[in-house]
Amino acid sequence: MAAPLTASRLLAILKAEGVKTAEYPDWRTRGRDAATGRPFGPVHMVLNHHTAGSNSLAVVAKNGVAGLPGPLAHIHLAKSGLATMCSAGRANHAGTMARNAYDSFLNEKATHPAPSKASSTVDGNDLSYGIETENLGNGKDVYTRAQYDAWVRINAAICREYDWSAESVGCHKETSIEGKIDPKGPVEGYGTRGRFEFTPGQFRRDVAERLKHAASWSPATTAPPTTPKPPAPKPPTDTERITALEKRMSALEKRTS
Ligand SMILES: [Zn+2]
Repeated sequence: MAAPLTASRLLAILKAEGVKTAEYPDWRTRGRDAATGRPFGPVHMVLNHHTAGSNSLAVVAKNGVAGLPGPLAHIHLAKSGLATMCSAGRANHAGTMARNAYDSFLNEKATHPAPSKASSTVDGNDLSYGIETENLGNGKDVYTRAQYDAWVRINAAICREYDWSAESVGCHKETSIEGKIDPKGPVEGYGTRGRFEFTPGQFRRDVAERLKHAASWSPATTAPPTTPKPPAPKPPTDTERITALEKRMSALEKRTS
């Protein structure tokens, strides 16, 4: 039974994983459980989003948007890599999930099929942790290196706590039947990797790699030093070639004279 973590435990596992954290006022008691009559949990996966906006902390943590009351996630992740705790209860982030997609995360399958409404649906807010990562989502706004690193850590921390594999990590666009496209966009870099495009597959591989190590691990950020090659001998200059030729000629002349 994967019961939701207490607020204190959720905060503690993030800190243990090396995530910089902050606490939004009253986050420990804010949730959608009472208002909907649907208590949060049991939980079976982490669902990742981009905010499609900037300065969205208050919207995510408390205010919500028209027709969708807050909290809109459990954790808000800023460009700086700061994770702000928004809720430990039910949050309005996942909406309706396609059953086929959800099952692939529940059962930690190696592949995740495109969400099909025909496979029936589940309420994603019952069963998933939601991370809202700040990015405009226009395909140009860049996830910073610090932000991506923290994002991997947050997902790994939750998987580690429940003994889930990285195949319990999903993205909104992989489960939504409402045509969600998040998260997407370029990433500044991660570990020794330079700029790349966010993909769920690469994200899961990065979480999986992290889970092979202790929570205190940090990925190397520079490539291992390579032994410098000895400098190649310089080819002779024309003058040197001519001088050598002249010497040979002169030696030849001496012998024949
Ligand atoms: Zn989303």
